[in-house]
Amino acid sequence: MAVSFLNLGRLHQEIRPALDQAYKRVMDSGWFITGPEVQAFESEFATFSGVKHCVGVGNGLDALVLLLRAYGIGPGDEVLVPSNTFIATWLAVSQCGATPVPVEPDPQTHNMDPAGLEAAVTPRTKAVIAVDLFGQMAPIEQVMEAAQGCPVIEDAAQSIGASRVIDGARVMAGQAAAIGTFSFFPSKNLGGYGDGGMMVTQDDALFETLMKLRTHGSRRTYYHEIVGYNSRLDSLQAAVLSAKLPHLKAWSAARRRNAAYYDAAFADIGEITAPYIDAANESIYNQYTIRVSARDALQAHLKALGIGNAIYYPLPLHLQPCFAHLGSREGAFPESERAAREVLSLPVFPELRPGQLDEVIDAVRSFFGR
Ligand SMILES: *Cc1c(COP(=O)(O)O)cnc(C)c1O
Repeated sequence: MAVSFLNLGRLHQEIRPALDQAYKRVMDSGWFITGPEVQAFESEFATFSGVKHCVGVGNGLDALVLLLRAYGIGPGDEVLVPSNTFIATWLAVSQCGATPVPVEPDPQTHNMDPAGLEAAVTPRTKAVIAVDLFGQMAPIEQVMEAAQGCPVIEDAAQSIGASRVIDGARVMAGQAAAIGTFSFFPSKNLGGYGDGGMMVTQDDALFETLMKLRTHGSRRTYYHEIVGYNSRLDSLQAAVLSAKLPHLKAWSAARRRNAAYYDAAFADIGEITAPYIDAANESIYNQYTIRVSARDALQAHLKALGIGNAIYYPLPLHLQPCFAHLGSREGAFPESERAAREVLSLPVFPELRPGQLDEVIDAVRSFFGR
């Protein structure tokens, strides 16, 4: 029997009545862009993430672009970014006319290595984007120290609801750096039924700028103070996200249970490196990503057995054609290149049934002859 990598339909069934109500509310209100639904969700998300301000935008990439713009980042500026991340992190820098400068990950957590970051800071460095990859937070407090006063933006698209203990206190993703971004792309742990994103900040002045940037540079209709964008969360997405948010903790806990079940089942297979979660972190397992040297053969084996899987990411960003102008070559970022050869993500979504977890496990174990 096949096991899909992700099954958004199953989740949909569970909360069908709340979703039906949300749709109806929006249709009846006749208010489709920003408005009360968006304000309500922004306020719920601010409470959830422990931040003062939330600004809903069109997608996670725009959230990064608008934040960089708010800091005045443009041509001639460098922004330090992880070498191993989803492309949106780099695209945001390029879209501002600035240059993404890659920093290698800690091979265990896949997150930005603070020592490498410290070494990469130059007088042209104007900001750092730290990504919380696969569901666990980057060591934000160490990143901020290594950034030597440059603003640090936490790209928490993959880690909605993750947390980290910093100086004895539990801090939520988006809260630690005081400036963060999220994505509500359907496959994120809190996904809309379309695109969506969020900027979060503790800073009142920055909040005012972000509100203008998302709406044509204006706070008061038809009066435009800055050259802005049009990137807003729509009411329908906000209503769906409000219906889903109360369930997010339970869904994350289910993902952690699935991950622990895999960890135990693979513990005796030396060829598999299971995900490593920093002791200070609670992961929300946006991905359950193992490392295997025979990755391509394992993937072919799983495919033949109908077991869903995915590679995040098959080609490192410095080798992507769209970044050829940055002049990087093979071998420049070996940790990212090695990750691209070795990583494989297995199904970990909350609605997986116990029998399906066992099917995935049997398929993986059979590849290694166990
Ligand atoms: C998903 C994601 C984003 C934003 O993606 P959008 O599709 O633009 O919402 C940004 N950064 C990372 C690391 C992501 O995984």
